[in-house]
Amino acid sequence: MNDVNKAEEEHVQCDVCLKEIPASEAKNAEASDYVAHFCGLDCYEKWTKKAEQEQAGG
Ligand SMILES: [Zn+2]
Repeated sequence: MNDVNKAEEEHVQCDVCLKEIPASEAKNAEASDYVAHFCGLDCYEKWTKKAEQEQAGG
């Protein structure tokens, strides 16, 4: 087994697929009253499109 040197690193959860990712690797987006985190651009784009639809719809 490998020694883990960065076990203390903070992790966050992707807002779209709920995968846990290191905070340093997460994409961030500022929502109206919180900051959303994403594992990658795919999830980031899904989230932004969903947010646009929710704002446009009634
Ligand atoms: Zn994700």
